[in-house]
Amino acid sequence: MHKKIFPALILVLLFAASSYASSWINFPAEWDLGQAFAVSITSTADYSDPVITWLDRTINLSVENGGAGRISYGLLGSDVRNTKPGDYKILFEFTQAGQRYKASGNIKIKPREYPRENLRVSSKMVNPPKKELSRIKSEQKLVGAALRTMTTPRLWTTPPKPPLASMTSTSHYGFRRIYNGVPRTPHSGEDLRAANGTEVTAPFAGVVVLTGFHYYAGGSVYIDSGNGVITAFFHLKDILVKKGDKLAKGQLVARSGSTGRVTGPHLHYSLFLSGRAVDPIPLLSTSITQMLKLGTQSQVN
Ligand SMILES: [Zn+2]
Repeated sequence: MHKKIFPALILVLLFAASSYASSWINFPAEWDLGQAFAVSITSTADYSDPVITWLDRTINLSVENGGAGRISYGLLGSDVRNTKPGDYKILFEFTQAGQRYKASGNIKIKPREYPRENLRVSSKMVNPPKKELSRIKSEQKLVGAALRTMTTPRLWTTPPKPPLASMTSTSHYGFRRIYNGVPRTPHSGEDLRAANGTEVTAPFAGVVVLTGFHYYAGGSVYIDSGNGVITAFFHLKDILVKKGDKLAKGQLVARSGSTGRVTGPHLHYSLFLSGRAVDPIPLLSTSITQMLKLGTQSQVN
């Protein structure tokens, strides 16, 4: 019995005696415009302060048990509204044994054609009256600040829990929208069929960072789930949470409605990754582990 255990014990001691650590980063070589992708840092030894720089934002990651020993997961993406297809640099940094390691690569954001959609709304929702402009501006500032929220630890776990008990899309993310014949920015989320008063639940655990009744978005809730992952719901009738509330995954947050710029009652569901609105739907049927298999791993040390 002892004879069998002995060689294994020697191996463990040899590794423990050396200060040897191996670390890897993982990211996809190319990805579609508007779609979420996964990245990771993993190492055989502990490290601290993992940070990613992507599309001019700095994303703080968490360090957890997993992967080669320790692992940091990231969810990133590009925004159909304001990212142009092309090559973008991604930078990974972390500190290990007193040394700051940096590794970078390129991700090609590939063009993706999203369909056109004609909508008819009240004319004041296409050309807002002058008296509403300062209100719209101050709401944009609040939303901008909420979307810059960058916290750890990671509270998001994949797949997210669908926010409605019954999920039927009525308008997809990325649709190029023509309001009353006037082209406007593409759709920043998914519209889901929801009669007035339908219960809306949190796709991830998180903390409420903003609520309000906004000019275009109507009743809105923004939930921070760490590492730059933020969920938003628009056009709500009743908001049942307030700023600072800690939410469990699947917790009731609101009842849907038809407030703001709408053609009728529905739930608008947005997923922001470090400030970029991505398509929230594909993530519902995958996991971070599955997504990372689509990336390429390269060794840092
Ligand atoms: Zn919408």
